[in-house]
Amino acid sequence: MSNTNYTTEVAILGAGPVGLTIANYLSKQGVAVTIVEQLDSLIDYPRAIGIDDESLRTIQSLGLVDQVLPHTTPNHAMRFLTPKGRCFADIQPLTREFGFSRRNAFIQPQVDNVLLQGLKQYKNTQVLFSRQLTQFSQDADGVTLNLQNKEGDAETIRAQYLIACDGGNSYVRRNLGIAFEGETAPNQWIVIDLENDPLATPHIYLCCDPVRPYVSAALPHGIRRFEFMVMPGETQEELSKPENIAKLLSKVLPSTDGIEVIRQRVYTHNARIADKFRVDRIFLAGDAAHIMPVWQGQGYNSGMRDAFNLA
Ligand SMILES: Cc1cc2nc3c(=O)[nH]c(=O)nc-3n(C[C@H](O)[C@H](O)[C@H](O)COP(=O)(O)OP(=O)(O)OC[C@H]3O[C@@H](n4cnc5c(N)ncnc54)[C@H](O)[C@@H]3O)c2cc1C
Repeated sequence: MSNTNYTTEVAILGAGPVGLTIANYLSKQGVAVTIVEQLDSLIDYPRAIGIDDESLRTIQSLGLVDQVLPHTTPNHAMRFLTPKGRCFADIQPLTREFGFSRRNAFIQPQVDNVLLQGLKQYKNTQVLFSRQLTQFSQDADGVTLNLQNKEGDAETIRAQYLIACDGGNSYVRRNLGIAFEGETAPNQWIVIDLENDPLATPHIYLCCDPVRPYVSAALPHGIRRFEFMVMPGETQEELSKPENIAKLLSKVLPSTDGIEVIRQRVYTHNARIADKFRVDRIFLAGDAAHIMPVWQGQGYNSGMRDAFNLA
């Protein structure tokens, strides 16, 4: 058993978009940063699909927007349909105050990966994957993080500050005893991303069908996102079976022959905000600090604003 000790100026917990963006900003300013991530690689399951102009401007200021734009579709309208298919609301802002389209489709894992690759240019920054945070404490001069790596070895990080970007279920927030007030929606949704978009229609449609509301979104690189409400009595386990996914899709596709599911996952929608965002040398940012129902399309975008404001 070995014990590795790291020293850094800012430790960031969580290699999601918020942790990665803060790390890029701080590194660009010459600050030494260490990111700790519990997984072996970035999250690859289906999540954000809408990135706004402010986030793109943030990414531009990091010098990474040219790598991100190929993974976006600009002017992505959001349309609400009645059960008979009549459009009763159309969100389609066409102005470009910040130099980018206001609403853009994107695929979160691809853009998160650009943010990760962007860190490679900074020699004082490192990303430690496959580390569990077992304990943390702070004193007048800094913060100490106790980690365990994949081999079971103990590691320690001593930092001047800790920024907890560890998502909605934040370990740091819970251990600091910070309340996370708000609501959890009673319904869950199953999210399915398909390869080789079988519909090939642009934009995003929210189909307000009382039998089973669903969302259909065209994404870059020929990907189609469907989100279906999980109805009372249905379980996540049952609904996730390939035959039941095919059944869901058969209601919205001309044919389910040859469909290629890239990712699928069931989500619960939350609207919660932390009681405070800072305790001395420890900060909360992104979903760790505030979480909102995905329809608002602002979890990622508000986290990018946290990153810009904090760093
Ligand atoms: C279906 C769906 C659709 C969405 N659509 C949109 C959208 O269109 N637009 C939008 O703006 N937002 C959207 N969101 C929200 C967006 O995905 C999140 O708000 C965003 O990922 C939050 O980023 P984050 O970095 O704060 O947290 P996360 O992305 O959750 O990252 C947290 C990271 O911390 C790691 N971690 C957690 N605990 C520990 C620990 N103890 N030690 C080490 N690492 C840890 C996790 O493994 C993870 O990598 C959507 C979300 C979902 C689920």
